Amino acid sequence: MTAHMIVGGGLAAGKTAEALRAGGHDGEIVLISDEPHLPYERPPLSKSYLMGTSERERVFVHPQSWYAEHGIDLRLGQPVTALDSAARTLTLAAGATVRYDTCLLATGSVPRRLDVPGADAAGVHYLRKLDESDNIKSVLGAGGALAVIGAGWIGLEVAAAARSAGLAVTVVEAAELPLLRVLGPEVARIFAQLHRDHDVDLRLGSGVDSLRVEDAHVRGVRLNDGSEVAADAVVVGVGIGPEVSLARKAGLRIYDGVLADEHLRTSDPHVFAAGDVVNAFHPFYGRPVRVEHWANALNQPTVVAANMLGGDQSYDALPYFYTDQYDLGMEYVGYVEPGGYDEIVFRGRPDSGEFIAFWCREQQVLAGMNVNVWDVVDPIKAIIRSRAAIDPVRLADPSVELADLI
Ligand SMILES: Cc1cc2nc3c(=O)[nH]c(=O)nc-3n(C[C@H](O)[C@H](O)[C@H](O)COP(=O)(O)OP(=O)(O)OC[C@H]3O[C@@H](n4cnc5c(N)ncnc54)[C@H](O)[C@@H]3O)c2cc1C
Repeated sequence: MTAHMIVGGGLAAGKTAEALRAGGHDGEIVLISDEPHLPYERPPLSKSYLMGTSERERVFVHPQSWYAEHGIDLRLGQPVTALDSAARTLTLAAGATVRYDTCLLATGSVPRRLDVPGADAAGVHYLRKLDESDNIKSVLGAGGALAVIGAGWIGLEVAAAARSAGLAVTVVEAAELPLLRVLGPEVARIFAQLHRDHDVDLRLGSGVDSLRVEDAHVRGVRLNDGSEVAADAVVVGVGIGPEVSLARKAGLRIYDGVLADEHLRTSDPHVFAAGDVVNAFHPFYGRPVRVEHWANALNQPTVVAANMLGGDQSYDALPYFYTDQYDLGMEYVGYVEPGGYDEIVFRGRPDSGEFIAFWCREQQVLAGMNVNVWDVVDPIKAIIRSRAAIDPVRLADPSVELADLI
């Protein structure tokens, strides 16, 4: 009987199990996660779940009963420690060995650690896992002063949740603006203003020297200009990296993630990868692209499962992500290398709170972000895919339908 193994406990893992069954496989499917929880989605961990506005059950990809009903052998709390591609086996930390015909690596990402004196004190939190969200939820419940180190998506979402819970929040960021590398200064300024409008103390262009610790608990963040931010707790959000340790040990090709072709097949034809961990050749961009966002983990499973079952599908969806902070909801589609654009065109005034921003190079739209404007992602995708040169005056003009631009 053909056996398909899935390593991981996130969205990509849960959705691939579903897609393998939906694709007609009636043999063995084993899902192995090092976490004790059912496979779950992470976006609510810094938003509704953290703020207590959505139920815990809602984070899980499927309820417990679904796995039994679909004959998925769920092995939770069991890290996979080795993949032997010659023998086609996985070794679990407890010592068991399982054989596979195909294996999916959906091992996701791990947070970068803060490497300064005091960083291992009590009260210093990271946010990747459900249990960590629970811990930060307790911090929000306790009130007081929170310092967030790193003004990326996670840091800003936690800052927004903490302000909504009434904490005094300081965000410390080494760059001159939040999200500067991803968005560029024009749009990064909008996020800075959003947080200032909600009384977040933004310390930009500030490095962290050390954390001040008293009685083994963090009490403050010392900045490299000599100042100190008082804190009852600290959340560190200084970026993530792909979890490639298993793949590296197995001898798979690694470059900023597990390298894969457009079929999500790694350098070993029996091993596939999906979600945050994969750096897969992208037919539209003509090179490998790694995407650390929810939509990728949601959509790659259909393609990877079809290919694990012997198909030959390509994954070429444009990168997409979203965020919710305070009353700002936005969606971003496309891909721009840091500094890879020459103009930003706004459709609608940014200070109105409802607008679309387009990142353009030589009048070609590379990416678009709709802020509190909805149902426009499909036409924006079509504009990006067309690679057409678009007059920036028409692009900015809300009276011209997006669909009429190409
Ligand atoms: C707090 C938070 C908020 C987010 N918000 C957004 C958002 O608003 N919008 C958006 O687009 N994206 C968001 N993301 C990103 C999104 O959640 C990720 O892109 C998505 O989780 C990737 O899913 P994945 O299945 O690839 O990996 P993960 O969800 O990281 O899952 C990987 C799993 O594999 C397990 N694992 C790793 N190694 C092993 C091993 N050797 N053996 C067994 N198991 C192993 C891990 O423990 C983990 O359970 C957010 C992420 C976080 C953390």
